[in-house]
Amino acid sequence: MEKMQFKAESKRLLDLMVNSIYTHKEIFLRELISNASDAEDKLAYKALTDENMDVSRSDLKIVLVPDKEMRTITISDNGIGMSREDLESNLGTIARSGSGQFKAELKEDDKAAEDIDVIGQFGVGFYSAFMVADHVSVISRAWGSDEAWMWQSDGEDGYTITACEKETPGTDVVMHIKENTDDEDYDQYLETYKLQELIKKYSDYIRYPIRMEMDDYRQKEKPADAGEDYKPEWETVKEWKTLNSMVPLWQRQKSQVKPEEYNAFYKEKFNDWQDPLDVIHTSAEGAVTYKALLYIPEKTPYDYYTREYEKGLQLYSSGVLIMDKCADLLPDHFRFVKGVVDSSDFSLNISREVLQHTRQLKVIATALEKKIKNELARMLKEDRKKYETFWHAFGSQLKYGVVADYGAHKEMLQDLLLFWSSKENGLTTLEAYKDRMPEDQPYYYYACGESVEKIAKLPQVERILDKGYEILYCTEDVDDFVMKGLAEIDGKQFKSVADEDALPQTDEEKKAAEEKAEAGKPVLEAVKEALGDLVKEVRVSSILKSSACCMSTDGPVSLEMEKYMNKMVGGEQMKADRVLELNPDSAPFAALQKALEADDKETLGKYAKLLYGQALLMAGLPLEDPAEYAQLVCSLMV
Ligand code: ADP
Repeated sequence: MEKMQFKAESKRLLDLMVNSIYTHKEIFLRELISNASDAEDKLAYKALTDENMDVSRSDLKIVLVPDKEMRTITISDNGIGMSREDLESNLGTIARSGSGQFKAELKEDDKAAEDIDVIGQFGVGFYSAFMVADHVSVISRAWGSDEAWMWQSDGEDGYTITACEKETPGTDVVMHIKENTDDEDYDQYLETYKLQELIKKYSDYIRYPIRMEMDDYRQKEKPADAGEDYKPEWETVKEWKTLNSMVPLWQRQKSQVKPEEYNAFYKEKFNDWQDPLDVIHTSAEGAVTYKALLYIPEKTPYDYYTREYEKGLQLYSSGVLIMDKCADLLPDHFRFVKGVVDSSDFSLNISREVLQHTRQLKVIATALEKKIKNELARMLKEDRKKYETFWHAFGSQLKYGVVADYGAHKEMLQDLLLFWSSKENGLTTLEAYKDRMPEDQPYYYYACGESVEKIAKLPQVERILDKGYEILYCTEDVDDFVMKGLAEIDGKQFKSVADEDALPQTDEEKKAAEEKAEAGKPVLEAVKEALGDLVKEVRVSSILKSSACCMSTDGPVSLEMEKYMNKMVGGEQMKADRVLELNPDSAPFAALQKALEADDKETLGKYAKLLYGQALLMAGLPLEDPAEYAQLVCSLMV
């Protein structure tokens, strides 16, 4: 029989899985039960939209059969089933959606810690079977087909698919359990009490009954003719039991759900390895009735900033899944939220198109947006450390939210923003910044740059700090847009320290500056002539203190925007109008003056280029001609 090989990356993952040092091998059961439950869901959903299908929800169930003699556990469902092609594509490859990233991660040597991450990140559900089994058969018959197929693998080198018999549609997963080893007890998974415990622990809320035949010890009935000295006798009876309570978690009272249960549900449902950072369990009654269970992940999902990532909440109508990722329930700025919404206000077979326009959906979305915002605000206030974890993972998303849709969400989001503060040497909210603001401070100040350390050394920063004002250090590309988007809060504007008028001048200062500019004019003109089109203007700086020069801009495009737009693929290529600012009180300015007076055009040209190059470097911009610049610097030394 021909053996088909796993795709390369699947093979590597299987190795990791099989030889996993992963201690929670028991989660295999949760994963397989979850697949079975999904298969029931899919069938139920299909039946909703197809009148010809005769499926009764009450018949859907999952059956668990351990067999100690054969060392097998069989998990059966009567769900949608898989065709031959399904078996091939679903079980022949792992991590279909994230395979690019996946390969990248797998190239590195597998350190134990990374392995765990891989397993968690990619939600490799089915393959977890190989953590406890040395052979797995999947016998499946797709709904509507009379063919059945068997997929088999030992998890090592490839798999086979062969035709087989199966009387009813659905899937049986048969795992042959590994022999015990010195440090691993596999036998326990063949015990009914253990399986019962695991189902309670991980799969209690699954909405289809999970049935297993168990031993029940019962007192025998007392015989009618029992004498005075009759002692009760016990017997073992086999009995089918439903192991799970089947109540969806979100339908339960908040006070009745343990944190572990919330977490287990999240991990199982949303394929995360880690506990969520935060849980929001909420409900509403009235105009629209719903229950919602929302989660904020702790880490940025690996595909979060890619096209693959799909936002949305699972939408149920009275316990029946009607849409897996309902995007309209979440605004983009909260697209990291995962969760479930259940409302009886939607009809079961509502189409996507109609759903989009229903009023109820909008009402729920608006309410949830507020809930999420309030929860984040609460976290920020009451548990700063946790909030900073959140911020680390999804802060950029909130910033994009401020900028998006022409600032429509600014009010909603601005209280949730954090920026690096020159005063706090840590993150600050805008509110805290405002509270610390001296009375005479005219603006919210910010400075953009590559890193906090670099910004702190920017020439433009010095004079503002000297005034005792606080500056928000912005290190993300989007920040400059955010500040321009925020524009002002309660009448106080946001101002880049690079703006010439960042500090208001007194009339005297203004006059002195004008005089200096006037006096420096010949130097400025000479420098501009030497630099040609490289700059739009050369001017005397009113913002520099100890530095000789800096780069600023004229017009609406800032240097940060230029950098940002030019990095974006397919983004518009933008160029800011550069302005070279010179400090008339600096030694280099005097040197320029001297060269001009001596009519030494060559030296003046050199100095002009040197200063221009320095200004670029300090602004974090590339030199147009690094070799020439290096030569210029060297020529100074000779
Ligand atoms: P995931 O469940 O995260 O998609 P899995 O590796 O657990 O990943 O399963 C891969 C796919 O195989 C599933 O998406 C599903 O299409 C299919 N599958 C697995 N188990 C079953 C089952 N019991 N019935 C029908 N399809 C299944």
